[in-house]
Amino acid sequence: MVTTEALIRRARECTIPAQRLVAGKPPWWQWMGYVGSAVMTDKANIYTGINLSMLCGIGFCAEHSAIAAMLKDGETRIAKIVAVTAIGDIIPPCGRCRELVYQIDPANLDTEVILATDRPVPLRELLPENWQQYFKPAVV
Ligand SMILES: [Zn+2]
Repeated sequence: MVTTEALIRRARECTIPAQRLVAGKPPWWQWMGYVGSAVMTDKANIYTGINLSMLCGIGFCAEHSAIAAMLKDGETRIAKIVAVTAIGDIIPPCGRCRELVYQIDPANLDTEVILATDRPVPLRELLPENWQQYFKPAVV
């Protein structure tokens, strides 16, 4: 089993190659690969990904690419997830990523989200209201 510290380290380390690419480039390049994410599945496999943030709204969060890598191997159940900046700060998943983790597998409400606080929290605490139950087709 991978420790939380090792998962955090993997998330940060995956930003290094992209950060080397953007060194010395114009400022708008600096956010490419600035955030790394690592997910550990219920099978204890680790997948990492980096963000892509470019001009004109082009991009995605690090969690998206880590989850895409996981889906390539046919896994959907996330035991732990973390996002870390290139300078080592742990950041919480944005609302869109919280939804993504839930929507790829509703069992992920039990995913342990690693935060910069003393304790990780289950995703269900970060998604307290389920909106999908109200999403019904219009009657015309
Ligand atoms: Zn996000």
